[in-house]
Amino acid sequence: MTDTVLIVGAGPVGLTMALELARYGVPVRLVDRMTKREETSRAVALWPRTLELLARAGGGLSDELVALGNPVTVANIVAGSAPIARVELKDIETPYPFVLMLPQSETETVLARHLADHGVQAELGIELAGFTQDEAGVTATLRHADGREETARHGFLIACDGAHSPVRHGLGLAFEGDTRGDDWAQGDFHMSGVPYPVNEFVTYWHEEGPAVLFPMAPGRYRVILGIGASSGAVPAVPPIETFQAILDRRGPGGMVLHDTIWSSAFRINERQVERYRVGRVFLAGDAAHVHSPAGGQGMNTGMQDAVNLAWKLALVARGIATAPALLGSYHPERHAVGAQVIAASGRLTRLATMENPLARQIRNGVLHFLLGLAPVQHQLEGTLTETSIGYENSPLNGVSWQAGPRAGERMVPRAGEAPYGAGDTPRFTLRVGEDVGDHPPELPLALVDPLRRTNPVAGGIELVRPDGYLALSVTDGEWEPVVDYLHRLGRA
Ligand SMILES: Cc1cc2nc3c(=O)[nH]c(=O)nc-3n(C[C@H](O)[C@H](O)[C@H](O)COP(=O)(O)OP(=O)(O)OC[C@H]3O[C@@H](n4cnc5c(N)ncnc54)[C@H](O)[C@@H]3O)c2cc1C
Repeated sequence: MTDTVLIVGAGPVGLTMALELARYGVPVRLVDRMTKREETSRAVALWPRTLELLARAGGGLSDELVALGNPVTVANIVAGSAPIARVELKDIETPYPFVLMLPQSETETVLARHLADHGVQAELGIELAGFTQDEAGVTATLRHADGREETARHGFLIACDGAHSPVRHGLGLAFEGDTRGDDWAQGDFHMSGVPYPVNEFVTYWHEEGPAVLFPMAPGRYRVILGIGASSGAVPAVPPIETFQAILDRRGPGGMVLHDTIWSSAFRINERQVERYRVGRVFLAGDAAHVHSPAGGQGMNTGMQDAVNLAWKLALVARGIATAPALLGSYHPERHAVGAQVIAASGRLTRLATMENPLARQIRNGVLHFLLGLAPVQHQLEGTLTETSIGYENSPLNGVSWQAGPRAGERMVPRAGEAPYGAGDTPRFTLRVGEDVGDHPPELPLALVDPLRRTNPVAGGIELVRPDGYLALSVTDGEWEPVVDYLHRLGRA
């Protein structure tokens, strides 16, 4: 028997969740109260780890996104006329060594198309009006746009319902954190005169606040500006003339905004829900965490929440593996990542908005020095690209052999191999040394990809999760911990 899953919210996180579950053969229903899809750009960055994880869905999904977007490989920071840092994305081993600039609306369109290939369409104009849960499932009340109500019963409910998450409110969960005391404005503009090529970001640090330019395409930029202390009221969206005047003051001069494609103003919230799971209800994306747009990690982190949960839920919903530890690992793994992202994006924002002139001078000197050091650049690259994300304290981690990566670490996708977790069933992958012989007969084959891969360099047996993180590693021939690990997952 396969449990069905109700996903509330068809933004990028709900679409990713539905796509992952649908391709793994779990019946899903995806509803959203909006009656028409949002056409504005909103989040514009897709980082390498997200593209790696989306590639697992097959159908050329990540390649399609890459073909539509603008790959950026360099981030510059400039204060006045002084270059502070130039960080190149060049050290990360990944098939996608860049940050892809693509409007969120286009990312959503591509995801929705791939979801349709699995026979699932988002049902728009349907609002989750309420829900209850018991040991066996979730009962949801759905209100259609014409006022009609229906009651639906599902095995699980996934809340991908955004920052104001009605599900989070319904569960009575706190959204702990703060709202920053400053206002921000952002817009997409046709513009000229930017003194960097189209594959480079630039952030101008200035005493009034930062100005950040993301190249979306030749002659088209996302501009983000700190616009000063908040009055407490919802900030007004500045006209293009204000954006231009601020850029003239903070940039090198000569940059000209021609017309506005879309603009908005906002305040920054840094908040995280205390529990990502309550019984059969899970929270993902903005429903679980919101933070500064510095670093452009919000949507990416949410989509990776979905990837993390989907393979575990698919194993449980299809009855292939029933250990409580599987679903139980979602909260500790993703809450820890969410907390790291909130802390890192908060630090970047505070660095960019320092008011004290002496502190700014020290910051510029120290960062110029530090960001010139290869290890610091490498660490920053890992954080931004989300390739350094791992689950080192996960309850799902098995033992780690001393050679090679530790349990919980990301396994670098290898050229010429199918991505870990590809296909229609979430399976673990075995990498083994060259001469280890056959699988032991007691290996639970339903959980393991029949295509075993070699591990000629490090040797040893590595068991890789369907989301591409190492589950455990042992020396060649030491099958017992591998068999035991998989049997424990399979058991209720
Ligand atoms: C104006 C704006 C600009 C942004 N700019 C950036 C940026 O520059 N960089 C960045 O990283 N991020 C940005 N973001 C944030 C980014 O858009 C979010 O991180 C991302 O959309 C989160 O995706 P999500 O799927 O979790 O939630 P959302 O995209 O918010 O989707 C939630 C969905 O749930 C639906 N929903 C809510 N309640 C119900 C209900 N009861 N029943 C049915 N459906 C419901 C909503 O209609 C909505 O479609 C921006 C957001 C906005 C609004």
